[in-house]
Amino acid sequence: MFHDADSGLKAIIAVHSSALGPAAGGCRMWNYDTDEAMLRDALRLSHGMSYKNAMADLPLGGGKAVIWGDAKADKSPELFRAFGRAVESLKGQYITAEDVGISVSDMQIVREETAHVAGLDEGDAASGDPSPITAMGIYLGILETAKRALGTDDLTGRTIAVQGVGSVGGHVCEHLAKAGANLIITDIDQAALSDISTRTGARIVAPDEIYDVDADIFSPNALGAIINEKTLNRFRVKAIAGGANNQLIVPEMGELLRRRGILYAPDYVINVCAKISGTYLRDWVDAKVKALMVTLGEVLDLAMESSEPTNLVADRIARQRIGRTD
Ligand code: NAD
Repeated sequence: MFHDADSGLKAIIAVHSSALGPAAGGCRMWNYDTDEAMLRDALRLSHGMSYKNAMADLPLGGGKAVIWGDAKADKSPELFRAFGRAVESLKGQYITAEDVGISVSDMQIVREETAHVAGLDEGDAASGDPSPITAMGIYLGILETAKRALGTDDLTGRTIAVQGVGSVGGHVCEHLAKAGANLIITDIDQAALSDISTRTGARIVAPDEIYDVDADIFSPNALGAIINEKTLNRFRVKAIAGGANNQLIVPEMGELLRRRGILYAPDYVINVCAKISGTYLRDWVDAKVKALMVTLGEVLDLAMESSEPTNLVADRIARQRIGRTD
């Protein structure tokens, strides 16, 4: 936990596993209600990153940072420099990058204090904004999921409900529209909604209505824990596949989705991204994303054959890879 009185920084960096390499995972800025909620988020997200990096077959462990604050009001260069010093104090055990509320320009300030930053525009760690690649992975993952849940990956005339049209969700919508899908979208940001709607012809619904719409696939690309006891029985879709981290409020939701006949693409398998330190090679990332889709297909097939929830099958494979039991 890091406090810096001068800049007002209050942050947590969670290192879940460094068995396969330095713990890598983005930094999120959010106005948490309590310290406990902040800690829980950091721990859950870092756990997810361990599994995600293991499933992507990367030489990286799992970590995550969270900064307490309103991303629209509380940012300052001093805050990000203090965060950079916090990252530096871990001496490379943790590599940071952008997540919700954090931009490439914020990370450039962090970089002034530490080399352990990915997702920049230039220099060694120049992967730039990872969201277009994340979105490509999600789009390909939606196709893999559609093959099994709908019997085809031709999305022409199919309806996809997309929650969140920010950096990732916006790009996902563009891919889906190009593939001929009809889109139903929601967000709390009206400007982002009308922009995506104009570009893709998507129908807009209110944030809470997205769970009730008739669609083939639901693609959550906003925040986590949206598959919970309140939403579970509202979904009228055949599959769920999207980029939001930690979509299931508890792992048991995976089995409940399975019983409802909804094929769930485990979030951390589908939402790999290119926040990787070191020289950024586009071809290498493209090949990784494609390889990951083979892994996703295997997880879905194995789960369908054995009548197990997809999230537990994915967890088992990830745990084997990092040699952990939790
Ligand atoms: P973002 O902040 O650019 O977009 C999130 C969008 O969700 C925003 O437009 C926001 O207004 C909207 N939103 C917030 N609350 C909402 C609500 N209640 N209902 C509907 N919409 C709501 O963030 P992003 O980078 O697009 O990330 C989206 C998700 O994908 C996050 O869960 C993130 O952890 C995950 N993710 C992102 C990346 C990446 O490359 N950026 C990689 C892997 C996973």
